Amino acid sequence: MHIWQVGCQMNAADADSLAERCAEIGMRPGAELPDADLAILVTCAIRQHAEDKAASKLGELAKWKEQRPGRAIALTGCMAGEHGAGLLHRFRYLDYVFDMRDTDGFFARLQDTFQGSLEGPVPLPASDRLCAYLPVILGCNEMCTYCIVPFVRGRESSRPSSEVVAEAGRVVEGGVREITLLGQNVNSYLDPETGEGLAGLLARVDSVPGLERLRFLTSHPRNASEELLQAIADLPRLCENLYLPVQSGDDQCLRRMKRDYRAGDYLRILERARALVPGIGLSTDIIVGFCGETEEEFLSTYRMLEEVEFDTVHVQAYSPRPGTAAYRRADDVPLPEKQERLQRVLALQREISARRNRALVGQRVEVLVEGVGERCRPYGRTRQNRLAWLEPGPKVGDLLSAEVVRATAWQLQCA
Ligand code: SF4
Repeated sequence: MHIWQVGCQMNAADADSLAERCAEIGMRPGAELPDADLAILVTCAIRQHAEDKAASKLGELAKWKEQRPGRAIALTGCMAGEHGAGLLHRFRYLDYVFDMRDTDGFFARLQDTFQGSLEGPVPLPASDRLCAYLPVILGCNEMCTYCIVPFVRGRESSRPSSEVVAEAGRVVEGGVREITLLGQNVNSYLDPETGEGLAGLLARVDSVPGLERLRFLTSHPRNASEELLQAIADLPRLCENLYLPVQSGDDQCLRRMKRDYRAGDYLRILERARALVPGIGLSTDIIVGFCGETEEEFLSTYRMLEEVEFDTVHVQAYSPRPGTAAYRRADDVPLPEKQERLQRVLALQREISARRNRALVGQRVEVLVEGVGERCRPYGRTRQNRLAWLEPGPKVGDLLSAEVVRATAWQLQCA
């Protein structure tokens, strides 16, 4: 069985859970395509480009399927939520389309189809992963006007904390050192058993024996509570990092996006976060060229970026998605204008990130070694999620303290 995946960390987590389920019914996950009988595509629909990639992969798989009788192709993820069974008509060689919220029906059909060749659970191949993503809340109840997620992933549904903690314990026993709790709107998590929010869940996972680091994403500013900021300050394994997409620094634009907060509210959250957690890493998402965005509105965003000095900014030019509320509005910022705004944000952020990283020279940072690159140089991430390169010596999995000796906008060099 072969899994192909694009998109966000939620899809990476879905691909892992499909591999586990497949192993339970006797299929071997992780096979290379030429050796596989089943290919599962975990797709993304956030942008047209992601859908085009999946369509192109399906074209490739059509030829693969013809080469050996009995092969099958399945598709899940956001494209399944958006287009449903209609995909079976559009792509004739596709055999299954299923929703990740309801995988039982899919696995029952697989067992029927491959009955003769399945002999029960097979061990999962040994994993050397250090970092794992655990989905804790599925779906999203917000209705940001540009976003397709609520339509393809459905309403919010939180997993019981007992289940999350048990899974965290299992992955840590399997060698994982860092866990990221995931949700499209992770900070609206509500434990269906205890009624506790994300801060309570973080506290429980933080105390899983053997865990070194804990993170969470993606948060909505409306749910960035004092309790959550306090948890970042207090919990020893929870990293000092907050990824809080603002999307625009202009109130009019935020209203058209239906983000339900004002720029001033957002700035107050960051001010509080910095007061409670000195040195906290701050990241955000920005959309430039949203419907009706004037130069003045864009400048409000630009000024917010100058004022806050984020560590990381993910910026994209607005592109309309069919099915969203914004799709009915005029996409009236010309493409060259969008691209020009995008380049201005990138240039500003490059300068800010370089300045912020250079300010760390001479300080010590904690690095979890995730890999070894060119010239045997290990690399990893700091607690604030900065990429750090080390001198040869440390092994993958080491957690160490190192001094920053040089820095660029994108990375730290440590000794
Ligand atoms: S909160 Fe995030 S996932 Fe939910 S609708 Fe808004 S942008 Fe989409």
